[in-house]
Amino acid sequence: MSENKLNKTVVYGLGAMGRPMARNLHQQGLLLGVKNRTEGKTKALINELSLETFDNDQAMLEAADSVITCVSADQDLHQVIEDVMDHLSEGAVVIDCSTVSPKTAREVAEKLAGKDIGFLDAPVSGGVEGAKKGTLSIMIGGERDDYKRASDVFAAIGSQITHMGKVGQGQATKAVNQVMVAGVAQAVCGALAFAENCNLDMKKTIEVLSAGAAGNWFLDNRGHTMVKDEFNVGFKLQLLHKDLHICQEAMADMDARMPLVDDSIADYGELMDRGHGDEDISALIRLRRELFDKTDSE
Ligand code: NAP
Repeated sequence: MSENKLNKTVVYGLGAMGRPMARNLHQQGLLLGVKNRTEGKTKALINELSLETFDNDQAMLEAADSVITCVSADQDLHQVIEDVMDHLSEGAVVIDCSTVSPKTAREVAEKLAGKDIGFLDAPVSGGVEGAKKGTLSIMIGGERDDYKRASDVFAAIGSQITHMGKVGQGQATKAVNQVMVAGVAQAVCGALAFAENCNLDMKKTIEVLSAGAAGNWFLDNRGHTMVKDEFNVGFKLQLLHKDLHICQEAMADMDARMPLVDDSIADYGELMDRGHGDEDISALIRLRRELFDKTDSE
């Protein structure tokens, strides 16, 4: 029933996104507990937020009415679901904020439905900054009743909260988002590498361009850091590489290919081969600078 609001949430996956989401849920009194594969992060957050401790994970999950999962990729989500599904109570809802394929979302939903546990695919956009501020854009697929029950949980972590339709539709929307993210990164990294080689003042360039028709979130939030070779913020490029494979597969199912997607997979694959996989996606500027460098590349 939609009046049966979710308010005892466990966050599973305390990475760059999960940690600030857990903090925001705690601030709204909605966080029951946290769990992470690497235990040190679990203990650190329990101490920081003075969370209730349980005898074991099973006891925590039994007491929860919802679990937010935020892990890296499809196979990780499958593992986490195996880990939690036997301990959750009937009527609980799993809300997955990871970026995985629509197919994985549907498979997980079906598995959980067999145990009378609801599932919402709820991928997010807005970066680590959005997760910290609680202003994520959340695209949700699943039963409307579960979506309504989760409204307070979503309000604690996001500001644009949209029910897109049935299970998988949230992830389909996120795949569309990632095509745009990849395109914007290509445009901004290429343009700023060009600007550097025009000997422009980069601070002034970013400020003046941000205020005009080329202005965008990526330029505002990553422009100043990428020109200073700071790539330790934000969204790991290996995660965008993973997301673009999801987009590529979805397009292949439609007998379509898109050069932007194929080229971006190749670019980020190259950066991963060179050991830059944990850097922000703005590290793409490394490759674009090479277009202007007539000596041997790195
Ligand atoms: P992250 O910092 O790399 O954290 C990944 C988390 O997943 C860690 O807590 C990790 O645990 C956990 N994990 C990975 N594999 C696991 C497994 N097999 N079993 C259990 N836990 C596992 O990644 P993130 O940036 O938080 O991203 C999480 C998800 O959100 C990804 O799907 C990403 O695409 C999506 N996303 C990220 C951003 C962003 O800007 N960062 C924005 C939107 C969406 P350990 O600590 O043990 O490694």
